[in-house]
Amino acid sequence: MSDITSDLALFNELVEVLLNEEKSNPVAERIDSDKLYDSIDLSLNDSAMVDGDFKSLLRDVLVTTPKTATNLFFNQLFGGRQSKAILGDLLAVMLNNSMYTYKVAGPQVGIEQEIIRQSCEMVGYGPESNGTFPTGGSMSNYMALVMARDAKDPDCKSAGMSKQLVIYTSKESHYSNSKNASFAGIGRDNIRYIEADSKGRMIPEKLEAQIKEDLNDGLIPTYVNATAGTTVLGAFDPVDKIADITEKYNIWLHVDGAYCGSVIFSSKYKHLIAGVERSNSFSYNAHKMLGTPLTCSILLVKDKKQLHYSFNNEADYLYQTDGDDFNLGKTSFQCGRRNDALKFWTLWKSIGTIGLKQIIDHQFALADVALEYIRSNPDYKLYSFDDSISICFNFKNIDPMALCTALYEHQITVVGFGSFLGDTFVRFVTINANNTKQDILNFFKVLETFVEKAPNLNKIKEATPELI
Ligand SMILES: *Cc1c(COP(=O)(O)O)cnc(C)c1O
Repeated sequence: MSDITSDLALFNELVEVLLNEEKSNPVAERIDSDKLYDSIDLSLNDSAMVDGDFKSLLRDVLVTTPKTATNLFFNQLFGGRQSKAILGDLLAVMLNNSMYTYKVAGPQVGIEQEIIRQSCEMVGYGPESNGTFPTGGSMSNYMALVMARDAKDPDCKSAGMSKQLVIYTSKESHYSNSKNASFAGIGRDNIRYIEADSKGRMIPEKLEAQIKEDLNDGLIPTYVNATAGTTVLGAFDPVDKIADITEKYNIWLHVDGAYCGSVIFSSKYKHLIAGVERSNSFSYNAHKMLGTPLTCSILLVKDKKQLHYSFNNEADYLYQTDGDDFNLGKTSFQCGRRNDALKFWTLWKSIGTIGLKQIIDHQFALADVALEYIRSNPDYKLYSFDDSISICFNFKNIDPMALCTALYEHQITVVGFGSFLGDTFVRFVTINANNTKQDILNFFKVLETFVEKAPNLNKIKEATPELI
């Protein structure tokens, strides 16, 4: 038998275990994937499990699950834990509202709308703006693309695709662009991947040349996806210059800020997306730079009519009270929708906009610590640039893929690799705002100590004379 009070007590007990584990073993006990089902009993059975066994199994699951909140996790574009956001998310689970109607969500509707309103103001959108909370950055990009498609070809919504639409993004942009082109009926072959410059930023002149060529060929340029924080280098496409082009040719401009769009909160770094107010839509993931639990993605649209045009559908069984402004299902992709707003609101409310700015500024300060360390140490080679919280490097010319895998397999630290212009390197991300300068320096120390003890790591293959 179970009741909520005893389960919450169990929850607290397990969280205690987890927090202690995180301190003593910041990298989880790893289970080889080919031994997973033999190492831990994940089976579902006819009979109920007794409480004591259940608890110990949950404990095993907790300690073997990769720990993303610790000071040795640098693998992804999220990390750490903002406790006031955790609080909000736990409350959202208890409340279990669905965000489609005011009747079911009540004040949660206002919480979501207030985040959207303030975000729109920071971006510089006018009073006609609005937005929604999609399931993530990929879905935000998708919804933006659908709006762009419908803006260019309004009949598409009822009659299906009839025009030859083409869309544009940089070679360094997120892979969701490719999938989304297929989902939206535009087709993966109708994306133009525009070349990036030596720092990973889309080259506006190349974009315009491609648009001209497509127009000459009778195609219809429809959508440009600019990135604020590319996945590998954390580069910012020049939004202002791209907006000159999208305005000239009447093309929808979406700024994908899933990774680093949260710079809108920092007076110091906001200049990296200068011109964003000229875009038609903008998205950012609060679960990346702002550290809320996954997922928390915000899509803002300059003209809310377009969100409504593409996503509204009448449903008498659902929309029975209150106006459209309070029935958020009228502008969302899903029907039932999780409350992703409350966790962001509790964080924002408790630390203020100033606190959010400090989170962003701290991440860049940590990046500077890493940059300085790498630049002053000849064993390292740097591949990334200033104004990025992705620090890309190689150490002693060691194959970065082998290094990252070895660090993971030996439970030393969790970090990934990336590639740009033919080079592959370790990508170290200073996105965990709980980290201190000491944690960043500790990462390098841990890495160096490991390499010293594991001397047979492969070096990057140099061009051998036979191959030349
Ligand atoms: C992470 C990321 C996405 C995808 O966001 P999800 O929430 O993981 O779907 C899209 N674009 C960029 C630039 C990203 O960094």
